[in-house]
This record gives sequence, structure tokens and C-alpha cells, in this order.
Amino acid sequence: MKPRVATVWLGGCSGCHMSFLDMDERLLELADRMELVFSPFADVKEFPADVDVTLVEGAVTNTENEHFARIIRERSRIVVAFGDCAVTGNVTAMRNMFRVDDVIDSVYGSNGDGPVTKPDDYSCIAKLLPSARPLHEVIPVDAFLHGCPPMADQIWFAVNELLNNRLPVFSTVFLRYG
Ligand code: SF4
Repeated sequence: MKPRVATVWLGGCSGCHMSFLDMDERLLELADRMELVFSPFADVKEFPADVDVTLVEGAVTNTENEHFARIIRERSRIVVAFGDCAVTGNVTAMRNMFRVDDVIDSVYGSNGDGPVTKPDDYSCIAKLLPSARPLHEVIPVDAFLHGCPPMADQIWFAVNELLNNRLPVFSTVFLRYG
């Protein structure tokens, strides 16, 4: 049976996933060697059980991310922090120097620069956490793939190592390329 692989987009810009696509024709080889069971690239609504490897892009920045991260951890044998936002918080964590209420006021334009569009009822929107957090502060992470975004060659190297079941070599250090 082919390894079951997932990719997830939490609090990030999607640039890490765009870099994944930059593997170009090598994606065809990967498609032969693994089964992509969940991803922004695939129309799958629910994160499945028994996933071998999950690459997680983005920091954990709201309650929905936090809940999803725990589901990913429960259902994945190997979890990889994919890109600097997942590894350190990076760009997503730049809002950590501000109060959450001020961030929301600014985003919804009530800071004097535009019309106030802030909704009255937030009950259907995931709440921002007090700070955006790197993935390993929320769930145990097995490997860290640096870069903003990681280069396609780095991703190719890392995914090949994972598909060849060589994670134990990297389990306590950062995955590096070159
Ligand atoms: Fe975007 Fe860089 Fe964060 Fe990836 S690491 S989600 S490219 S800002």
C-alpha cells in the first residue's frame, strides 16, 4: 500500500503550498509513490484516519487551527512543521506584538482609515488566540522543514526522506537540504 500523505494549511499565506507545486514534473513521480489523502489541492472535507505523513503549513493562530492541529496529531504517524510560520510563527506571529482587539479593529477598518465593517456577531468565526504560535507549542512535531517558503528542492528532498521511512535519522534535528 502506498504511504498516505496529507498537507494542511493553517495560519499561513499558502506560499509553502505554492512552493510544493514548484516541484513541477516531480509531482508526477510523487503521485505514483504516495496517496494524497487530504490537502488544499484535493477536494476532501474531513481529515482522514491513518495518515502516514502530514505536512502542516502555517502557525496556529485561532481556535479552529488549534482544534484541527490536535485532530491532525491524533490521526498522523508523522507530523512535519512545513515552512517558517509553522516552525517559528514567522510572518503570522508578527501580530503578536498587538492586542487581539486592536488587530481585529484594524482589520475591519474601524481605526479611522475606512468604514466600520466589524460584524456584531462573531459566534460563527474562529476566535483569534492571544498569540499566533508555532506548531510544536500546540502539538508534538516530528520534523521541521525551514524556509519562507521552503524551496521546491528542499521539499523534494524532505518528502523523499519521509517516503523512504528515514525520519528517525531526522527525528531530533531540523531537516536540511544541501
Ligand atoms: Fe507564507 Fe512564508 Fe509562512 Fe510559508 S513560511 S506560509 S511562504 S509566510
